[in-house]
Amino acid sequence: QAKQQGRNHWQFYNKQRKSMSASDIILRSQLQQAIDNEALQLYYQPIIDFSTGKIVSVEALMRWTLNDGTAISPVEFIPLAEATGQIIPAGAWALKQACTDLHKLQQAGVQRVAVNLSALQFHRANFFEQIEKVLNDTQTPPDMLELELTESILMENTDNAINVLERLRERGVRVAIDDFGTGFSGLSYLKTLPVTKLKIDRAFIKELDHSLSDQVITQGIINMASQVGLEVIAEGVETKEQIAILKQFGCGYGQGYYFARPMPLTDLLIFLQNSDLI
Ligand code: C2E
Ligand code: MG
Ligand code: MG
Ligand code: MG
Repeated sequence: QAKQQGRNHWQFYNKQRKSMSASDIILRSQLQQAIDNEALQLYYQPIIDFSTGKIVSVEALMRWTLNDGTAISPVEFIPLAEATGQIIPAGAWALKQACTDLHKLQQAGVQRVAVNLSALQFHRANFFEQIEKVLNDTQTPPDMLELELTESILMENTDNAINVLERLRERGVRVAIDDFGTGFSGLSYLKTLPVTKLKIDRAFIKELDHSLSDQVITQGIINMASQVGLEVIAEGVETKEQIAILKQFGCGYGQGYYFARPMPLTDLLIFLQNSDLI
């Protein structure tokens, strides 16, 4: 059934794009094999609470390595999977895997796992029921799951989006807006949405210590977010200087290579044991 779904989207993709490159066609069938054989992986990247210096949650990030050892970046295969519909089975797998791994993470002191969602998943008719089923099947406390959505997902079909967000909130599942600042929605719009968190896109953090305009934007986002009661995570934190500025601006949380890169569950569990170092 998942395959059938994939095929329908594939036809759609062909109509839209007229053609797909030969390498995309090969990748698509390799990706299908990886989905069928459950050969995709989830890596986890810690998210740090600036006020305590401790790891509070982790973000689950999909990884795909070909049989010959070549790693394909999600920046490449996620858009492909979205275009072909393969994100539906791949995303369902990631959600279930993250909720399964959550039990071990919880024992190691992690409060929550964040899972990325694509528009195609979020706007499906049975999306909420799917979340419900995963929570039940994996015995996951709803407030331990956080879903990361981009602004564009919420802008796409706003009535449906708000409806789903409200059901999630009622159920106790948290929602964060990913890559904030790269879309066009703005905070006045977000104020009306039942979400709990913003993740400031890495693009604003990258040059934070020397770009005055990035400082102004970042501070503006943090100030307005706190006024409407949203928590803020800075993405792509790589230096001490960035951390100092973010703390000064009142940013609550950070995630980035400075603290840790995304890693497999087993590595993360070891890292968590030694994470007093952070
Ligand atoms: P994202 O959700 O914004 O995830 C953050 C990305 O920033 C990750 O890239 C992470 O490895 C990277 N990153 C974290 N800290 C740093 C840093 O300090 N410096 C730099 N340069 N990069 C940093 P990744 O893992 O390559 O994922 C890229 C994107 O692919 C994600 O962006 C997300 O949009 C998408 N993605 C990944 N996994 C999934 C998934 O399971 N489902 C869906 N729908 N999308 C996913
Ligand atoms: Mg994300
Ligand atoms: Mg992001
Ligand atoms: Mg991103």
